[in-house]
Amino acid sequence: MLRHIHFFKDMSKGYMFYILCCSIFQAQLLYLSPSFFRGVRVVCVCESGNMLIGLVGPRCSGKRTVADFLVTRHHFTPLAVQGTEHTIRSFDDSAALLKFVTENWRSDFVTWDIDLGQIDQFKKRPFFLLVYVDAPVTVRYQRLCARDRSSLPLDSFVEKDDEAVFGVSMATANTAPTPRPSLCRARSTADLTITNSYTTLEALHTSIADLQLPNLERLRPSWDTYFMHLSDLAARRSNCMKRRVGCILVKDSRVLATGYNGTPRGLRNCNEGGCDRCNANAACGTGLDRCLCMHAEENALLEAGRGRVDVAGTVLYCNTCPCLGCAIKIIQVGIKEVVYSKSYGMDEMTAKVFKEAGVRLRQHSPPSMRLDTDSLVDEATVDQLGWLSPPQ
Ligand SMILES: [Zn+2]
Ligand SMILES: [Zn+2]
Ligand SMILES: [Zn+2]
Repeated sequence: MLRHIHFFKDMSKGYMFYILCCSIFQAQLLYLSPSFFRGVRVVCVCESGNMLIGLVGPRCSGKRTVADFLVTRHHFTPLAVQGTEHTIRSFDDSAALLKFVTENWRSDFVTWDIDLGQIDQFKKRPFFLLVYVDAPVTVRYQRLCARDRSSLPLDSFVEKDDEAVFGVSMATANTAPTPRPSLCRARSTADLTITNSYTTLEALHTSIADLQLPNLERLRPSWDTYFMHLSDLAARRSNCMKRRVGCILVKDSRVLATGYNGTPRGLRNCNEGGCDRCNANAACGTGLDRCLCMHAEENALLEAGRGRVDVAGTVLYCNTCPCLGCAIKIIQVGIKEVVYSKSYGMDEMTAKVFKEAGVRLRQHSPPSMRLDTDSLVDEATVDQLGWLSPPQ
C-alpha cells in the first residue's frame, strides 16, 4: 500500500523522503528499519488519507462516475449497501458500513449508498465528507434514456424525482403527504455540491480534479480557513448598510480580538439611519470622511488595545481587504501580517503601503466548495462516448 515513494538527494540536508499516499503511512514505516530513516526528512505531500466520501444526489446525477474517479485516481475503496456487484464490498445497511469505516479509518473509502435517514450519524464522524451530486432534471432524464431504452416516461420520472428530492409522496384525495428523509435536506447539510451537467467524462474529471476532493482541509479547516470563517461570522453582526466586514486578530493561533463594522457604541445603527453617507449608497471607497461607521479592523484593533497587546507575531484576518485608512492604522500598530478573503475597491493602494511598511499581505483561497458548470452539449463527443444521448 506504500505507493509513489520518491527519494530525492538534497544537497545539504541528506535524503528527503516523499510519500504520496499516506493512508497507512505510519503502520508501513514500522516495517522499515529505524536506521533507514536516520538523517532522512519525511515530507508528506499526500492530500488524502483517512476519509469517507459519501455521495448523495438524485437519480442519474453522476454519483457513480464521481465514485469511479475517486477509486481509479485516488485509490479510494468503494463500499456499498446490499450491493449486487461482487467486486465491491457491501454491507447489510448504512449503520454496518459506518461501523466498518470507523474501525478501518486509516484508509480512504467512497460510497454512493447512504440511507438518507442515517446522514446525521455519518456527519458526526471526523472522517466523513458529504458531497451532493446534482444535474438538471432534463440532463438526468437524457442519461436515463441513454442507459435504458425502456425507461420511464418523462412525467413519471419527474414525479419520482420530486418524491426523492422533497421527501413526500404525492398526496391522493384521502391521504396527506408523508414526509420522509429527503435529498433536499441532504443537500442543505452537504459539505460541497457538484453540479454535473457535463457531457463528457473528460470535462467532469477535469473539474473534479480541480476540486481536490481528497484534500483533508475539507474535513478539518487550516488555521487560515478557520480564522477566515470566524471573520465571516463576525461580519454577520455588522449593521452597516454598505457592506458587512469582519476582522479577527490572532496570535499563536489564539484569538486576541474580534471586530465588525458599524456605527460606534451609543450612536444609532447604520441600518437604522445612523450614517448618512452609507444610507445615501455612496460609491465604494468614496465619502469615507463623512462616514460614521467604524471599520471592522479599527474595532478589532481598538478592542485589542494598543498598549495592552504585544503585536509581534499577531496576524490580522479580515474577510475583506483593508481600506487605505485601516491599512495605515494596521501599520502604525505594528502588525506584520494581514490575510484577507474578498477584494475591496482599493486593494492596490493598500498593497503598496503594506509593502513599503513591510507588512505581509496575502489573499486566502481555500479549496473551492462548489462546482458549477456552464458546459454545453457537445453532440459529437456525446455520440462518440455514448455517455449521454438524446432520448429516442
Ligand atoms: Zn455604514
Ligand atoms: Zn457610513
Ligand atoms: Zn477600513
